[in-house]
Amino acid sequence: MINSDLLARSLAAVWHPCTQMKQLERMPPLAIARGEGPWLIDFAGRRYLDAISSWWVNLFGHANPRINAALIDQLSRIEHVMLAGCTHAPVVELSERLGRLTGLGHAFYGADGASATEIALKMSFHFWRNSGRPEKTGFVSLENGYHGETLGALSVTDVALFKDTYAPLLRISHQAMSPDARLAAPGETAESYALRAAADLEAYLAAHADRTAAMILEPLVQGAAGMAMYAPIYLQRVRELCDQYQVHLIADEIAVGFGRTGTLFACEQAAIKADFLCLSKGLTGGYLPLSCVLTTERVYQAFYDDDAARGFLHSHSYTGNPLACRAALAVLDIFEQDDVIVANRAKAARFTERLGEVAAHPRVRNFRHRGMIWAFDVADAVPGFASEFHRCALARGVFIRPIGRSVYLMPPYVIEEAEMCLLAETTLACL
Ligand SMILES: *Cc1c(COP(=O)(O)O)cnc(C)c1O
Repeated sequence: MINSDLLARSLAAVWHPCTQMKQLERMPPLAIARGEGPWLIDFAGRRYLDAISSWWVNLFGHANPRINAALIDQLSRIEHVMLAGCTHAPVVELSERLGRLTGLGHAFYGADGASATEIALKMSFHFWRNSGRPEKTGFVSLENGYHGETLGALSVTDVALFKDTYAPLLRISHQAMSPDARLAAPGETAESYALRAAADLEAYLAAHADRTAAMILEPLVQGAAGMAMYAPIYLQRVRELCDQYQVHLIADEIAVGFGRTGTLFACEQAAIKADFLCLSKGLTGGYLPLSCVLTTERVYQAFYDDDAARGFLHSHSYTGNPLACRAALAVLDIFEQDDVIVANRAKAARFTERLGEVAAHPRVRNFRHRGMIWAFDVADAVPGFASEFHRCALARGVFIRPIGRSVYLMPPYVIEEAEMCLLAETTLACL
């Protein structure tokens, strides 16, 4: 199939996500024929370094031989069976392994990140209802937080561009002050700013905890806010406040889980355990849609009853799909076999060094880094900066998509030395 033909057909028949379709007249989508490690390859054979891991989902490259082999094996066994009334080996093994890794032993599955958010919100509310506290129906989230775009998830999301149009359809929720370290006052450390943000949350909980079911947040990095990073002490303080005020803590690690922040899960850096942990994106290494909400024995027991209506009667057709679970198991195998978290530490240090000139560039503000995420803001960015930067990088064989004036780099973990050089050089050149 030739490239231009595919593009025309795509524009005619495919309604692309997160896109004003008319803008594609000027900036048509890339037609990707195949992938190879951190590279995307179009129909003309041009190669693009996937510097944002295909929207933050890819960990170990495209067409990874080990994940491919696991899926091919699974295909000859069972591709899908419903998870209500049936079970299968991949979902059992995955649930056990995630339970051991997180200390949260009960796994409920969905198909994408937003459905994980919905599941966690509904489960939290239902827990309180089953526990004789039906008035606890409210949710708190963070300013500039992002938890997905279905109506429930959008209610706790705080990104005006995605939310404002649909405001009449949404439930009101409260947004607490963001701990984003960029918002610290001059001379204020990230830690003391984080504690100030926690005090704002406490003031809210002190007045409203009796009507609040849960607090939901993205641990350590608010992704859609432009990779806003904050101090782990905020999470410690939130955990204490949630305990004190009897409010659940929902950790949305959909973007930051699976090594992105330098530990397998971001919550580890604050040594806390959430009541609900939402996972998706990297869960299958970017292969198949799958999400999971892990929770505690205490939550689980509140639903365990002779009465069906006290159970969690939520479902999606593809819940716990065997192929997706098998991809996730292959991902966990790679983490173990290659000691990925440790290897990434050395890789991240080298890449940070390579980005030295970028960090020191006169237009760069708030250069920040955590684990396998790098980001900075660009001073005096003109309207259209993000798409201009995207185009510039693309012409140099790198796929980058800034968020507003925040440029971020979030490469697959299989990125090699030469590719890091290309990425650093391209970022600098486009600046
Ligand atoms: C991407 C994302 C979601 C939503 O996941 P989808 O699979 O896109 O629905 C939710 N929360 C966070 C933190 C995310 O980054």
